[in-house]
Order: sequence, then structure tokens, then C-alpha cells
Amino acid sequence: MAAEKQTRSGGCLCGAVRFDVSPVEKKFDICHCGMCRKWSAGPFMSVHCQGGATFTKKDGLAWYRGSKWAERGFCSRCGSSLFWRLAENPDAMLAVAADAFDVADDLTLDRHIFIDAKPARYDFADDRPRITEAELLAELGITPG
Ligand SMILES: [Zn+2]
Ligand SMILES: [Zn+2]
Repeated sequence: MAAEKQTRSGGCLCGAVRFDVSPVEKKFDICHCGMCRKWSAGPFMSVHCQGGATFTKKDGLAWYRGSKWAERGFCSRCGSSLFWRLAENPDAMLAVAADAFDVADDLTLDRHIFIDAKPARYDFADDRPRITEAELLAELGITPG
């Protein structure tokens, strides 16, 4: 049976960014890369969405181009970390912060990514797959550098 396309709403802490997106699945990833941890003050938990976002409010929306291939969306008023997307093809893959959604309790953990960048000071207790940066970039068809 084909997956039903579902729209889900979310926003930042102060409400200056509100959006509707369509998650691919009711699942989230946890990224342990150094940039995500610096940006979101911890491992970045996100939901892959298709077709980009529809903004019902974007007064505070700002983007930061953090690497050659990706940019990060956040609220410039309250500082909430919200989006990660491919800079050259923004509608192809949009990762949305799991806790930015109004409802997120039904989401389940899919896997950990950039596990080779995780610092030793914490560990998660789940047994979901853990993949490295090289494995993920190969999946996305991105050449590092
Ligand atoms: Zn805000
Ligand atoms: Zn990351």
C-alpha cells in the first residue's frame, strides 16, 4: 500500500517561523556531526520531508550556508534550529527538527548518522543502525571535500 502523504505543522520557539511539511515517514534520524552539535546544542534529531516547506509565517526565518552542499534554517529572533537542506536542490531533501513539530510523539527513531563524529562523552541506549559520514555521503551521492 502506498504511503499516505501527510502534512505536519511546526514552528520555532517564538512563533516567528511557522511551516507545513510532508514527512517521508514517521521516523527521525539523529545526527552526531560536529556542525549539527554546535548548531543545535546537541545531536540533531530530524525528520526527512519531501517537496520543501510551505511557510505560513517566516518573519524570523534565516538560512546559514554551513558547508559546500548544505544550508541550515533557523529563527533569527529566538534562535531555534529548524531545517537542514541541500543548498543546490532545496526541495530534494529537507530535514526538519523533530521537536519543531507541534506533534512529534508518534515519531520513531530510524537510525544514527555521522556516528564516527560522536564524542565519547555520551551514548544512546537504543539498538538502531549507526552509520558513518562516508556511508551517508555515498547514499546521498555526495563527494566529500
Ligand atoms: Zn522564533
Ligand atoms: Zn549533522
